[in-house]
Amino acid sequence: MQRVDVAVVGGGPAGSSAARAAAENGADVVLFEKGVPRADREELGPDSTDAAGFLDYWVDIAQLDVDDLPGGVVQQELDGARFVGPSDDVYIDQTGVESSHDGFGFTFQRARFDDYLRGRAEDAGADYRVGRSVTNVETDLDGGHTHVVTLANGDEFEADYLVLADGPQRQVTMRVLDEYLDDASQRLSPPENNHIAYQEYRRFPDEVFEDLKDEIVFWWGWMPGETAYPWVFPNADNVCRVGLTMPIGMDIDDFDKSEWRLLREEDERIPQGKVYIRRLLEEVYGDEYDVEEDFPVVDEGYGKSKGTETYAISSTRPIDSPTAAGIAVVGGAMGTTSAFHEGGDHVAMRTGALAGEFAAEGTLSKYNDAWKEAIGKEILRNVAMAEVVEDFVPEDWDRTFGVVDRALREADSGSVIKAARSVGLDGLRLYKDYKQAKLRFRKAKYVKIQESEYSI
Ligand SMILES: Cc1cc2nc3c(=O)[nH]c(=O)nc-3n(C[C@H](O)[C@H](O)[C@H](O)COP(=O)(O)OP(=O)(O)OC[C@H]3O[C@@H](n4cnc5c(N)ncnc54)[C@H](O)[C@@H]3O)c2cc1C
Repeated sequence: MQRVDVAVVGGGPAGSSAARAAAENGADVVLFEKGVPRADREELGPDSTDAAGFLDYWVDIAQLDVDDLPGGVVQQELDGARFVGPSDDVYIDQTGVESSHDGFGFTFQRARFDDYLRGRAEDAGADYRVGRSVTNVETDLDGGHTHVVTLANGDEFEADYLVLADGPQRQVTMRVLDEYLDDASQRLSPPENNHIAYQEYRRFPDEVFEDLKDEIVFWWGWMPGETAYPWVFPNADNVCRVGLTMPIGMDIDDFDKSEWRLLREEDERIPQGKVYIRRLLEEVYGDEYDVEEDFPVVDEGYGKSKGTETYAISSTRPIDSPTAAGIAVVGGAMGTTSAFHEGGDHVAMRTGALAGEFAAEGTLSKYNDAWKEAIGKEILRNVAMAEVVEDFVPEDWDRTFGVVDRALREADSGSVIKAARSVGLDGLRLYKDYKQAKLRFRKAKYVKIQESEYSI
């Protein structure tokens, strides 16, 4: 059996960042990535499914040097984001959070981004192994902690520290945490929180692309379900990622079909992702264009397969790690993709980097406090906003976008929420709801599983 200081499960942004930080801090580290085939990468690599947008201040959270990214990673520099309600929309050109990055943000090619992060980890000395699926972890806590990691091919590795970075599906994480908390799996994978994401790569006509290439666009209040919405993210060469996320297992009879722009009276069940996307494009561009002909799916060299990709997300709020057992859970596996799922690469990188550093130093007990210090504000914003909009129906989105639009005209610093107070009763209500949600979650009450709940 091979021995290492640190074993990392999963080779996405969280795992690569953990492996890099551990290696840079002197640890002997091995990372196992099960390896996912993608049409946009020749070799097997990490999963890399992503709408792939990065906002300005995320660069600071991720501690990412954008100038160091190889050509072809950044696809489009962005000037803003557009939020389209059923009949009202709003455009924002500031995130409102202080940032060292010029501009609103950028879109990127996720597979190339992951390959870059992998290269950084390998340059630091980490052993990044692809095509290696972790099937089991046994931990021995006698006189310390050692973990025996078993791979699908039967190979075994012994490590002092284990970093779980297997993403928001958490197949390994759930099994490992069940050892320390009986209902960990149920709490990490509750049926009501399970989402699916579906994405297509489509080539847009020149004039449409020209119009939207500097912005990311979200349609809120168009399809039913908590945190259910489509988006368009512009990439290079007129190609856009057109995607959506929605909860799994909804019953169409629970919704008034006439209320939602992407439902039809004849629907007998919640439509599949590709039906929704087709309807979205028809609604937005169908009057002037033949969607299938003028917005073709680019099926060669894009996405996972045939220009599309699907991804299951088990979404919750973030959890603490059982650090006394020498285990850190990072990135999507710890729930940092929760709330608005597309908020993850920066927090994945930061939590991974922290865990890798502390594992290498033998000071993993610092991890749970350190990640809250580093990303707590970001999590609080996301969790609070998700709570405010949880039960929104289409008219709530229109009203809110109206408020935000008016508030933006009042705001001088990009702090829309603050400015909302002064734009009438609806604005005041939005401000109050958000502030109250933030108060409810203050002092890290957003943590879904506390460190003290693990029995070690
Ligand atoms: C459709 C979609 C759109 C998104 N849009 C954005 C966005 O615009 N901006 C943003 O910042 N974030 C976005 N996110 C979130 C972002 O993708 C995640 O936050 C990020 O991928 C989390 O990184 P991670 O390393 O924790 O997990 P992942 O990237 O999921 O990596 C986990 C890795 O673990 C591997 N693995 C799993 N099980 C095993 C095993 N048993 N053995 C070995 N390896 C294993 C997987 O193959 C995978 O490569 C989006 C997510 C989705 C699904």
